[in-house]
Amino acid sequence: MSTQSNNSNIQNSQENSLGFYGSHGGQFVPDEMKARLNEVADCFNKYKNDKNFLAELDDLYKHFCGRPTPIFYCENLSKQLGGADIYLKREDLNHLGAHKLNNALGQLLLAKRMGKTHIIAETGAGQHGVATAAVSALYGLKCTIYMGEEDIRRQELNVLRMRMMGAEVIAATSGQKTLKEAVDEALDAFVNDPESFYLLGSAVGPYPYPEIVHHFQSVISFEAREQFQTMTNSLPDMVVACVGGGSNAIGMFSHFIKDKDVALVGAEPGGIGNEIGEHAASLVHGKESILHGFKSYVCLDEKGEVAPVYSISAGLDYPSVSPEHAHLKDIGRASYVAVTDEEAIKAFFILSKSQGIIPALESAHALAHAIKVAPNMKGKKILVCLSGRGDKDVDQISAMLKENKIQMS
Ligand SMILES: *Cc1c(COP(=O)(O)O)cnc(C)c1O
Repeated sequence: MSTQSNNSNIQNSQENSLGFYGSHGGQFVPDEMKARLNEVADCFNKYKNDKNFLAELDDLYKHFCGRPTPIFYCENLSKQLGGADIYLKREDLNHLGAHKLNNALGQLLLAKRMGKTHIIAETGAGQHGVATAAVSALYGLKCTIYMGEEDIRRQELNVLRMRMMGAEVIAATSGQKTLKEAVDEALDAFVNDPESFYLLGSAVGPYPYPEIVHHFQSVISFEAREQFQTMTNSLPDMVVACVGGGSNAIGMFSHFIKDKDVALVGAEPGGIGNEIGEHAASLVHGKESILHGFKSYVCLDEKGEVAPVYSISAGLDYPSVSPEHAHLKDIGRASYVAVTDEEAIKAFFILSKSQGIIPALESAHALAHAIKVAPNMKGKKILVCLSGRGDKDVDQISAMLKENKIQMS
């Protein structure tokens, strides 16, 4: 598939050595895990440009995922804002309602090539767990999902979806009992079972995962760049995506990185404030550190330990971020902003009402930034990655409305 062919050039120009993006990335893990990770890397390097592999993936993208996803021009919203024209890349229209499947399918095919029989994954809000359970069911592989006990309680419906598709969901019970602990336990389980493949859900973790996830998510901008040109005879002036771990954003940025006139903006979860524990904006507020086997910006407390993080959007509250985004920030090729809960909720309602599209709360962060800057960008075009649909968030919004915490404006 041509999708993947030219992002390796982009990556090579940014990497000084294996798995590093400037000073970020790497593989800070025990030797035992290193051997297992390098086995994954070897397989990835062997197959990433293999014709049969890419044909199989293309077929799944088309017939299982529903790709290519369209680009949609938000005419009503653009008129309402009176500035830039706003376009959406509709990743919400993928099977399961988000971009997660792009990566889960690619990694599943790697696992199959390696002859692995057991898929292990972490999940926070449950979206990656659901995608992993789905691809495991599709290929008849055993699937174990590690999820924080607290998240299992909060995301009952996703836990049920995973179980319906045959996955075993195991509670991570240490620490804050959320995503960070789930990753810790999933990595342990991976090292302890030689038949297992670790299917990581975002552009984070030790080498080779940030590169693998970039590779499979780059299908987003491979399609989008061409679609946008066909539609408007131009490139967008600005591309915006939300950043949790950074996978939809790196996928959305990938094929635009070489277009120096296209501004790339990542919207991080600004939560309810700038103090420790009030947000999960690792690039905006974090410091360089090592977590989960890689170096990047991490939200730290006063003692330099990993800080508790918060966002209204469960899919964005991870205390670190893709090392490639850290590098794009350092070299000034992309910029990153913190978008608050309040701004995201406002954008959630604005898009629902103006265009009849209910966005995921994660995606609403990206949209909120576009809404903020559009009035001062008359004559320009902004392309927003709508990473997922908001059906999963309606219960949460409903509860907040009932408690008068928010208003449907
Ligand atoms: C998981 C998720 C995200 C955040 O993950 P990234 O790796 O930063 O893309 C964003 N949007 C949706 C809809 C998600 O499900």
